[in-house]
Amino acid sequence: MNDQTYIVLNDGNRIPQLGVGVFQVAGDDLTQQVCEEALGLGYRHIDTAHAYQNERGVGAAVRSSGIPREEVWITSKLWPSEYGDSASDAAIDKMLKRIGINYLDMLLLHQQFGDYLGAWKALEAAVADGRVRSIGLSNFESERLEEVLGTAKILPSVLQVETHPYYQQLALKERIAPYGIVLESWYPLGHGDPELLGEQVFTEIGSKYGKTNAQVILRWHTQVGNIVFPRSTKPQRLAENLDIFDFTLTDEEVSGINELERGKRYFTMTLEEQEANLSGFIPAD
Ligand code: NDP
Repeated sequence: MNDQTYIVLNDGNRIPQLGVGVFQVAGDDLTQQVCEEALGLGYRHIDTAHAYQNERGVGAAVRSSGIPREEVWITSKLWPSEYGDSASDAAIDKMLKRIGINYLDMLLLHQQFGDYLGAWKALEAAVADGRVRSIGLSNFESERLEEVLGTAKILPSVLQVETHPYYQQLALKERIAPYGIVLESWYPLGHGDPELLGEQVFTEIGSKYGKTNAQVILRWHTQVGNIVFPRSTKPQRLAENLDIFDFTLTDEEVSGINELERGKRYFTMTLEEQEANLSGFIPAD
């Protein structure tokens, strides 16, 4: 296994560019199992959220791994039902207790609804008192992104949004570049879409390097500067997804993959639909 890459964020913290995501990994037990496997393989970055209802499993895996806490990057996310200056402050304490840690490496606002400005103040306070090291946004793609940037005392270090070769987020990357904000890609493998994973261009490049199509996609993400955390519950795929640091795509190969852009999102709910559905996802505790 070759060396993983790290990115230095605009707050000076160093994040592993590749991690494992646990969205839709059902329950704490399976999440613990997946994260233990991943940590054993060499992953040092886990992306969870209160809404995934599996943060306890993440914490249990980090503890049982025996890996020093400071060597594992843990990201979680607050849901809009916990936004607001004092509500978010209390929610952060509860989150730390749930995970069983005394600081988070990164905390994101999961969605761009509710009192996100109040919540951002609470995140800034948590950085000041050491409960959180880095803070960022998730799914802020509307003008609400600039609204937060306009009032923030601490800039977001990342913006986590749907990103893959069919939807590369080039315009959004231009909007965040002046602030030194790094793009984190969710659905990096198109949520497992066989059409994306089966694209001929990945097969051709992969045969040159002895890599699978998924590995070529993940390598492309890292070379265009994205942070990625593909999800799999299968040990073999967890190993495969990590094994992308011993080859480098040429500029021509990166350009060939860039040509796949087609404005195709897998998550297609409008902002109005998302806002109306928020209460359906309120995390249990
Ligand atoms: P991914 O793009 O990572 O795709 C996951 C799917 O791809 C699974 O079905 C998995 O199946 C399959 N897969 C994984 N590895 C391979 C491989 N090597 N070859 C073929 N298929 C593979 O989608 P996710 O939805 O999981 O997104 C990744 C992460 O992004 C999430 O886990 C979460 O942390 C984050 N996220 C954040 C969101 C947000 O709102 N902030 C929204 C959505 C995701 P199998 O398990 O069977 O291997």
